[in-house]
Amino acid sequence: MTHDTTGGPTYSPSRALDTAVTRLRIGHTRLNSLLHKLGMTDDPHCPWCPTYLDTPEHLLQCPRHHSHRTTLLQSLYPLLRRPTLADLLGGSPDPGLAFKILKHTRTFLQKSGQLHRI
Ligand SMILES: [Zn+2]
Repeated sequence: MTHDTTGGPTYSPSRALDTAVTRLRIGHTRLNSLLHKLGMTDDPHCPWCPTYLDTPEHLLQCPRHHSHRTTLLQSLYPLLRRPTLADLLGGSPDPGLAFKILKHTRTFLQKSGQLHRI
């Protein structure tokens, strides 16, 4: 067994990203589908896609974020070919793999500019 004692944890300093990932995992976001259930908005749909519910799954499929998603999937390709939402949120049973995937997901979330809605 090896122990990495050289650099300490390499977690992103951004608490907003930690919060976003946690919210996406537990489904407690500020996306319209949930706000609608809570009676806080009239429209449960994505702001850019009038026929798609604004859900965590859609956030990762929305055409609005196509270029960032392409970058994400290309980065993940050597690790995982067809990631699910759970994979993207660090759900892999392999902690090392989960950590690597999560780093890319966090980059996507940051670049998509949607943190305020998560
Ligand atoms: Zn959309």
